[in-house]
Amino acid sequence: MNADQLLARNLLSALANGGIQPFFQPIVSLDDGRVLGLEVLARWHDPVQGYISPDRFIPIADRFGLLDRLLDQLMRTSFLAAADWPHNIFFGFNVSPTQLRNSELATRIAKAAIDCAFPLSRVHIEVTESGFIDDLTQPRRTLDRLINLGCMIAMDDFGTGYSSLTWLSSLPFSKLKIDASFVMAMHEHRQSRKIVAAVVGLGHSLGLAVVAEGVETAEQADLLRGMGCKLAQGYLFGRPTSASLVPEVLSTLVSSADDAASSVPMSLELRAHRVSDACESDAAIAFMDPAGTVVASSTAFDRTMEVHRGEAAGRHIWELIGVTPETFAEIRATDLLDEQFPAIEETTASGSTARIFIRPVKDESSELLGYSVEFGEPTNPKAS
Ligand code: C2E
Ligand code: CA
Ligand code: CA
Repeated sequence: MNADQLLARNLLSALANGGIQPFFQPIVSLDDGRVLGLEVLARWHDPVQGYISPDRFIPIADRFGLLDRLLDQLMRTSFLAAADWPHNIFFGFNVSPTQLRNSELATRIAKAAIDCAFPLSRVHIEVTESGFIDDLTQPRRTLDRLINLGCMIAMDDFGTGYSSLTWLSSLPFSKLKIDASFVMAMHEHRQSRKIVAAVVGLGHSLGLAVVAEGVETAEQADLLRGMGCKLAQGYLFGRPTSASLVPEVLSTLVSSADDAASSVPMSLELRAHRVSDACESDAAIAFMDPAGTVVASSTAFDRTMEVHRGEAAGRHIWELIGVTPETFAEIRATDLLDEQFPAIEETTASGSTARIFIRPVKDESSELLGYSVEFGEPTNPKAS
């Protein structure tokens, strides 16, 4: 048995004995230092060998097909721990490109979240480019399924692979993480500074949220702010820590006004009631779930769409107005940047131009419930 096989065997028993634990590192808003999410990083402390770095065991786990099991454990442990933490933060999980080739991955992730009653809208999936996958058909299918379940997809370590731009344009990412090596070199190399500025601009022009990784100094944070980068992660804001220390990290980084943990969750019944309240109004408004299916619509909305009353519900919004499934990824990314998605202009069947506003609808702890679709002006002369 060679060293890698031995490591794989030890890893397998560590997985069986709870020897692998999730650690959590904050991802913060550069504007105000608020923690928006936590990246989940695997930690293995072997009783004999001591700390084993993920850089050593993750590639082995990948080669021996152990990453799905690892992800499942990290997710379940994180979801259960998160019950006591603020309900408005997302969790970033690392998924290897090999895992995306497995058609069962999305189902496994959904099952872990449902079993732990954790909303999939708070699950972000970080994927690192791998030059070895030439056929992106199944990876794209897996990511589309995850998006339909409400997850958000991030491209990790941007700029380190062979074909970052091909990946970026072929897969449905809504977040881009700039690799730490560029951020760390910013102060010494003007080239790196230019690369980071260009990547921030590229990301934003594609409607993506951009996170700078490996931020260790206040100077780096200042430079990034100056470039318009909104999100960051690194030792400056917090090192990866065990679950037991997360509340302390959050209390030092989150201002108490934003801490939604203490608010009482609204019941599903009350939410549905509020939605139907809005639907009785004269406004052309609809409400859709995170996957873009209309769940409720006002009479005026159905009239504007020229469908019979109640027939908009159950349809995907892209069957009704001129948006694509990708638009949701963009809307969510803009929301993460605390910006509003621009109005969508559309020519209605009656020939007039409508301005349609799609806005995230969140509960009191900022959890995404779905989206509202609202017509800015009366589009059908008969409706006004
Ligand atoms: P990554 O996804 O790019 O994660 C960020 C890495 O940078 C982490 O290393 C983190 O501890 C480190 N880091 C964060 N801020 C700073 C900083 O300011 N300075 C420096 N020098 N480092 C910083 P870690 O935990 O050793 O993980 C290494 C890599 O292993 C990760 O890189 C990720 O690709 C992989 N990995 C870790 N956990 C998992 C996992 O559960 N599944 C998979 N598939 N991969 C994982
Ligand atoms: Ca990552
Ligand atoms: Ca990274």
